[in-house]
Amino acid sequence: MPNRNSEVIKVDSDANQVVCDGGGGPLGHPQVWYTFDNHAQIACHYCGRLFAKKS
Ligand SMILES: [Zn+2]
Repeated sequence: MPNRNSEVIKVDSDANQVVCDGGGGPLGHPQVWYTFDNHAQIACHYCGRLFAKKS
């Protein structure tokens, strides 16, 4: 699925999970949680938002 959203969401460096619902509206999608594990950033599979840990 091509990314429809290039928005980058900064999250605290000690966060291990993020939740994304697309922000509502036409880009909205069911709420989904992502776990960082050892990754520095995660792209939402639904809306393409990028969640990046603050350095
Ligand atoms: Zn999303």
